Amino acid sequence: MPTRRTKRGAARTPLSGDADVLICGASFAGLAVARELAGSGARVLVVDRYEIGERQTSACGIPTEWLRAMGLMDSHRQSFGRLVVHTPYGTARLELPWTFSTFDYAELCSLLWAQADASFETAKVDGRTDAIVHTDRGDLSAPVIVDALGWRRVLGSGYQPPDAPLSRGLEVHPWGVGDEMEIWIDRRYVPAGYGWSFPAGEEVRIGVGSFDPRFHVKDTTVMLADDLERDAVRYQGNWIPHRLRDATADGIFFVGDSAGHCLPLTAEGIRTALYFGIACGRELRAVLAGNASLAQALVRYGDFSAAHDWKFAALLRAQQLVPRVPPPLLGAGLRAMQSRRFLDWAFGHYLAIAPPDFVAAGPPPPVRRRRLERAAA
Ligand SMILES: Cc1cc2nc3c(=O)[nH]c(=O)nc-3n(C[C@H](O)[C@H](O)[C@H](O)COP(=O)(O)OP(=O)(O)OC[C@H]3O[C@@H](n4cnc5c(N)ncnc54)[C@H](O)[C@@H]3O)c2cc1C
Repeated sequence: MPTRRTKRGAARTPLSGDADVLICGASFAGLAVARELAGSGARVLVVDRYEIGERQTSACGIPTEWLRAMGLMDSHRQSFGRLVVHTPYGTARLELPWTFSTFDYAELCSLLWAQADASFETAKVDGRTDAIVHTDRGDLSAPVIVDALGWRRVLGSGYQPPDAPLSRGLEVHPWGVGDEMEIWIDRRYVPAGYGWSFPAGEEVRIGVGSFDPRFHVKDTTVMLADDLERDAVRYQGNWIPHRLRDATADGIFFVGDSAGHCLPLTAEGIRTALYFGIACGRELRAVLAGNASLAQALVRYGDFSAAHDWKFAALLRAQQLVPRVPPPLLGAGLRAMQSRRFLDWAFGHYLAIAPPDFVAAGPPPPVRRRRLERAAA
């Protein structure tokens, strides 16, 4: 069981005040924005209901180049040069043109935070009235507010499953080792979606994701773990958005899952949370440097996100199509996809949706090894 480090009860002292930039959410998206603002001289405050890195939100798989480009390789656990796809009608081994890696969530968050020079407070964000953000510890205000709070989009309009365009994912983290990154497209586990097994050093992350929010994945997550002779222990799960939303609204910047930045079909949302977080941070830097107005930054960031709409829409169409393909045809199709030329083309385009060289395209943040004083307290 993870130990809860977040302060509760009397230890949760009142909080108030203002900042130049208030970033709500301290996971991939929020920390990427904060990292991009390092050295800007702005008073940046990051809040989250948990301490930084306390609550893992995913299987933590990402293209390796993204870890390298952001200076996060110390959190790296394992790399994979191929994806093994199982169907009831056979297994395809897809040799990737680039590698995919698993990482340690707490370490990655700590590394991201070390590259930022913001302040942090634990607080649960309850909502907003104009530029005032209400938390369980009091009100905070800032001229620039970022919602990186995940799929709930707390500072925007409501979003509730099962009616909202959300997938659901659940995984277990048994101790053990493995050397293949595997997925299962098999209706025994989920009618629309897939199961996965991502080894990460000393543990394996085994889970099931359903594109249909009404399908409960607990029993079949346990079934997949049983089939792999692993223990169904240490659960974590969440809703996963699969449709892009407006990345700005009512003066607020939305980044990561709160803007639907998770890719449909694959449910890969870490790389994109970092990518759009960097993009948002760059627009905010221009405002802080006096080179753009807040209104201009809102338009530019909103347009940048919306320019990706057709790519997200194409993946959503594939997400809707795959479950309709008869399984024997899917097995044959996957085997046909094993050709080098096709894989280079398909995975090259897929990586280009949020390419790792985007990180280097802007000013590098100062890398400072700063301890998580508050997080460790
Ligand atoms: C089971 C599962 C496995 C996944 N595996 C992968 C994978 O291997 N690779 C991949 O790329 N993607 C994966 N995803 C998707 C990925 O986890 C998300 O797309 C990604 O976490 C989005 O990052 P984010 O920073 O936008 O939001 P989140 O990671 O959800 O972070 C939101 C932050 O906001 C905080 N927060 C939320 N509400 C409040 C509140 N009211 N007050 C204060 N703080 C709040 C949370 O504590 C959290 O720190 C997976 C998802 C699931 C469910």
